[in-house]
Amino acid sequence: MSARIIDGKAEAAKLRARVAEEAAALKRDHGIVPGLAVVLVGDNPASEVYVRNKAAQTREAGMNSFEFRLPAETTEAALLALVADLNARADVHGILVQLPLPAHIAADKVLDAIAPDKDVDGFHPMNAGLLATGRAALAPCTPLGCVILAKTVHERLRGLNVVVVGRSTIVGRPAAQLFLKEDCTVTIAHSATKDLPAVCRSADILVVAVGRPLMVKGDWVKPGATVLDVGINRVEKPEGGTRLVGDVDFESAKSVAGAITPVPGGVGPMTIACLLANTLTCARMASGLAAAA
Ligand code: NDP
Repeated sequence: MSARIIDGKAEAAKLRARVAEEAAALKRDHGIVPGLAVVLVGDNPASEVYVRNKAAQTREAGMNSFEFRLPAETTEAALLALVADLNARADVHGILVQLPLPAHIAADKVLDAIAPDKDVDGFHPMNAGLLATGRAALAPCTPLGCVILAKTVHERLRGLNVVVVGRSTIVGRPAAQLFLKEDCTVTIAHSATKDLPAVCRSADILVVAVGRPLMVKGDWVKPGATVLDVGINRVEKPEGGTRLVGDVDFESAKSVAGAITPVPGGVGPMTIACLLANTLTCARMASGLAAAA
């Protein structure tokens, strides 16, 4: 048996198209163009690529992209002042400060300064708290993408056993909250979990967000389970050069799983698509309209 390969690129393209349609309707019916501000501090090459992709896809969806590239030596006070300006701007509906920030800036302080209703990354404690209490919240983009991909495999998520490996505030914890909201039975595993392979084998849906290349093997997967691999790890190839791999050993897992995301091309592409969806939601809410996408 070989698992169905979940096509994250295709699902992301569908979501972006839906967001673009709704953004066009918002402009036509209400004269509002959703605007996303992305702030990059320093010259981390990976962050630079992410920011460029985010800006390009924002524009392709018919939204305004405002980019702020600041030097690595930018002070925390200057960054907080920029965030305050963006909080006050009516044409900016979503604000994203690209992580990681240089070591001299307290990331939590900056993320906490973003207005919760412009917090398109869903990292503000107010949104984390709303999500944790089961209320409407702006939720982090990568876990949102995981739920959307799970729904392409399972007509109903209700009652399914979900194991999330990893408890970061960016992926693991919000993923657990979002699947709980879907009435799944959720287990969160982490570095102190006992007999992790056995815990993973209890999952109908296994979400892995650890940052350890190829950690989850095929015999950790329940036959027929859905595997969502969030990990993005760059590893050396034996013949030289590098390649991207996930946290799941794709080759062994795909012969056991019912459905599995590849890396690249699985969960990754959903993240920016969900960012656009969150920006649209912020623009609609700012205009007193219900969240849509
Ligand atoms: P973090 O480093 O913040 O968290 C990793 C989590 O994995 C921690 O909770 C840690 O446990 C747990 N962990 C580490 N080692 C083990 C182990 N041996 N067994 C079980 N659990 C373990 O990572 P992130 O959540 O930020 O990212 C995880 C991965 O996802 C990375 O590869 C990252 O690149 C990728 N990623 C991909 C995105 C995308 O768009 N597709 C977006 C964000 C991240 P503990 O808490 O106990 O230390």
